[in-house]
Amino acid sequence: MLKALPLLAALILSQAASGAPPRLPKPVAVPRSAPMAVPIVQTIPDAADVPYPGGTITLDIDASDTARGAFRVTEAIPLAAGARELTLLLPRWQPGHHAPRGSTAALLAMSFTVAGKAVDWRRDPVEVNAYHLALPQGAREVVAKFVYTSPLQNSEGRIEMTQEMLNLQWEQMTLYPAGHYVRRIRVKPSVTVPQGWTAFTALDGQSANGNRLAWAETDYETLVDSPIFAGIYARRWDLGNGINLNAVADKPELLALPLERLASLRAMGEEALVAFGSRHFDHYEFLVALSDRLGDIGKEHHRSSENLVEPRNFIEWERLDWDRNVLPHELSHSWDGKFRRPAKLWTPDYRQPMQDNLLWVYEPDPKLSCVVSAG
Ligand SMILES: [Zn+2]
Repeated sequence: MLKALPLLAALILSQAASGAPPRLPKPVAVPRSAPMAVPIVQTIPDAADVPYPGGTITLDIDASDTARGAFRVTEAIPLAAGARELTLLLPRWQPGHHAPRGSTAALLAMSFTVAGKAVDWRRDPVEVNAYHLALPQGAREVVAKFVYTSPLQNSEGRIEMTQEMLNLQWEQMTLYPAGHYVRRIRVKPSVTVPQGWTAFTALDGQSANGNRLAWAETDYETLVDSPIFAGIYARRWDLGNGINLNAVADKPELLALPLERLASLRAMGEEALVAFGSRHFDHYEFLVALSDRLGDIGKEHHRSSENLVEPRNFIEWERLDWDRNVLPHELSHSWDGKFRRPAKLWTPDYRQPMQDNLLWVYEPDPKLSCVVSAG
């Protein structure tokens, strides 16, 4: 029995049995130490102004599941010959947010395969928006599949999909290869929307196969700068000068914009072009949601803007005019913020931190600030 006990316990027991006090080790002076940081090893390459060598990424998103608020993403990422590893990033420093807001929290059911077989991958323990993949010999393409889940109620976050409309922001639900200026990464996008819905975006070359929409190949920077509004109740107006008003609404009657109101919107576009002295876009798309169900948004892009207004904004024009200020605000950002941007706010990818020292130039009016409305 005693033989089975650890030596110290056996010693104490034997001493206790003999009536002698146990002999404990004498205290010795141990020099005190403070914890020291473990060095962080850099594992992700900085962006370089060179093309992604694998070729064009094929991106396909099924955005038809309005019951679950799910965006099902499939990305086919071609690989350079001989590639044995790949690091994919979810955008962290998102344009228009001026802060590291991009989060992987809403990405579910991640899988990465090569030729149908799962590949080993791990999240980076330091840069948590990075996924490191170990590739088998001879790999030519990685297929990434995952689900991005829109909150279904406000307490969960910004609602991006309702029963009547959706707001697809590519940076929330697509991965891109690390190490390249995002303008040097080519992408061919397509999205399946619910049957009968209309989609609006600044992306060029739209084609449709049923409710699966595709656009011309573009670069990842332009893609991220070209979100989609889509809805079952949708309408589009030509405002002249290449500017279009595209609206989706909770109910069809909310789209009854009186014709005479279009004149003021047309004038807004003309006055902006005169004020800035340049027409720095080939076309510009106002994306407007008339809704109290979709989450709030006021976000600028070079050739479009995301705008949420009160549901009755178009049919109660004067009572709700304060709420429409978001349109000229975001249009002005097409020049101030996109065409021209404080140098340190421009970054080559969405991993390099933005420096906001000139944000006061970019967002001069705090009452109308996108920083407040878009988060
Ligand atoms: Zn703004």
